Amino acid sequence: MCKGESNRVHNSGRKTAKMAGPPEATDRHPVVIIGGGPVGLSASILLSLRGIPHALFERHRGTSIHPKACGINQRTTEIFRAMGGGLAAVRAAAAPDDVKGRTAWWTALGPGGREIFPRDAWGGGAYADEYAAHGPTRYEVMPQNRLEPLLVRRARELNPAALRFGVEVTDLVVDEADGGGVRVKVRSSRGEESEVLARFVIAADGGRSVTDKLGVPWIGERDVMDMVSVHFRSPLRSRHPDPRNFIIWFTHPDQGGSVRTGYLYQIGPWPFDSPEARDSEEWVFSCAPTASDPSKFHRLVLPLGRCRRRRGSRQPWWAVIGQRRARHRVFQAVHHPGPSHSTLVDVPRQGRPLRSAI
Ligand SMILES: Cc1cc2nc3c(=O)[nH]c(=O)nc-3n(C[C@H](O)[C@H](O)[C@H](O)COP(=O)(O)OP(=O)(O)OC[C@H]3O[C@@H](n4cnc5c(N)ncnc54)[C@H](O)[C@@H]3O)c2cc1C
Repeated sequence: MCKGESNRVHNSGRKTAKMAGPPEATDRHPVVIIGGGPVGLSASILLSLRGIPHALFERHRGTSIHPKACGINQRTTEIFRAMGGGLAAVRAAAAPDDVKGRTAWWTALGPGGREIFPRDAWGGGAYADEYAAHGPTRYEVMPQNRLEPLLVRRARELNPAALRFGVEVTDLVVDEADGGGVRVKVRSSRGEESEVLARFVIAADGGRSVTDKLGVPWIGERDVMDMVSVHFRSPLRSRHPDPRNFIIWFTHPDQGGSVRTGYLYQIGPWPFDSPEARDSEEWVFSCAPTASDPSKFHRLVLPLGRCRRRRGSRQPWWAVIGQRRARHRVFQAVHHPGPSHSTLVDVPRQGRPLRSAI
């Protein structure tokens, strides 16, 4: 198993976005967005479409290097549809139908592996009509490291100057005496510090930095378990016993059962016949490691074939949600349920109060 490291920890390998200069001390914006993940980038696009000037600060110099979220639910693709060019680009590069709509449980892959149960899922197969009846768009599967560059491209088409990568928000002061604005302190990757003024702030920081500063209490359980992910390249598809499955869940009582045994999912690139996809299939294996069995990856996945360029990450799973979504003029994407759920649905919920406020 690859050695663990905390999530989103290093910049090497990131698709570096074009850097804007450090913000000027006199910068004033109707809206400041903290965070350039899917929520922050979507917020930027939606604000631009409404003609609302804003600045987005992302502390990393580029987009996510980790696949992270892969399932984009139907409500979120409806929002992407409202972004104009956004949905078409996502649809074109998302998982094909024969991959995205099916999942199965196996004891292991390779010799001795046995299928326990397959099923349709995420709007595929038996669920296609039901999903179609509930919305004009479809559930899509696309990892975050490919989604974010598409959102950046769309955000830049609409407002080339809004995205400031490599700039971290270090503090927020809600200044009610000064017409109710927010003073946002920022530090560039070169260490230059300055302050910008915002009428409203969208904290799309994944609940990682400003939530506590705002005094938003979390409810729920933290540190439910540690999960380790291994992101690797390997031509597994031709040897996979059923590559129609987006995810294979390993379940074996001797290895902890369920997520403790682990799961394997394919992350493209798609379409399979694109030049980008040739000889570069990417996969992710995740599991909860146990001291007694640190070698699940080797036993469950490697029997199918060798892999290269592995990158590991370790994340604690939380099941917490912030108790408030807005405080003064700061709108917070506070949902932090751990790796298996998404805060993407927070985009419309955040947009409503903000629209009426502006
Ligand atoms: C291994 C893994 C698997 C996952 N699988 C799924 C899945 O299948 N489906 C799913 O829906 N979700 C999944 N998730 C969860 C998903 O990644 C999150 O829900 C999603 O990233 C949340 O989007 P976001 O934009 O709110 O936050 P993030 O993507 O966390 O983006 C927040 C951004 O804010 C930046 N930031 C934070 N603080 C500051 C600051 N002070 N100044 C400037 N920038 C700042 C961060 O650098 C980051 O880029 C998974 C997560 C992991 C780790």
